[in-house]
Amino acid sequence: MTTGSPGPADIYVRCPDCGFIAPPSSMDYAIADGGGIDWTARVEVRCVICHAVHSPGPGDVLPTDDAMTCQRCGASAPCPAGAARVRCPGCGLYLTGHQLTGQQLEELRIAEGLSGLALRERWLAAKEAARRRGTLPPYLDT
Ligand SMILES: [Zn+2]
Ligand SMILES: [Zn+2]
Repeated sequence: MTTGSPGPADIYVRCPDCGFIAPPSSMDYAIADGGGIDWTARVEVRCVICHAVHSPGPGDVLPTDDAMTCQRCGASAPCPAGAARVRCPGCGLYLTGHQLTGQQLEELRIAEGLSGLALRERWLAAKEAARRRGTLPPYLDT
């Protein structure tokens, strides 16, 4: 990646799946001639909240018209107004958006909890498959 080009942490989009604004947890894109994102190629991002993959266009990138202060390192993290998750450019910590209402916080907790639950189910299925194959270590056989 070219230095100075936008990385995954540098753009904010609204996830069409969960509806929250956050920087993607990962991002696939081509680098344009002058650096930055080549929007003529397909851009794929993964939502850091619900892990859905979606394909934003240049018009979906939100302006960072707000900022939060990182509670860990004190750095100022620019973000769009109403962002649900803000990534600190200083230490990488994900901050919870300071403009979320109580109901949005609850929805965020559920959206993140559900994806955690999906991961847990995948883990349980893998464990069950290993048990049937007889390759499950005894300490995991709970
Ligand atoms: Zn999402
Ligand atoms: Zn920080």
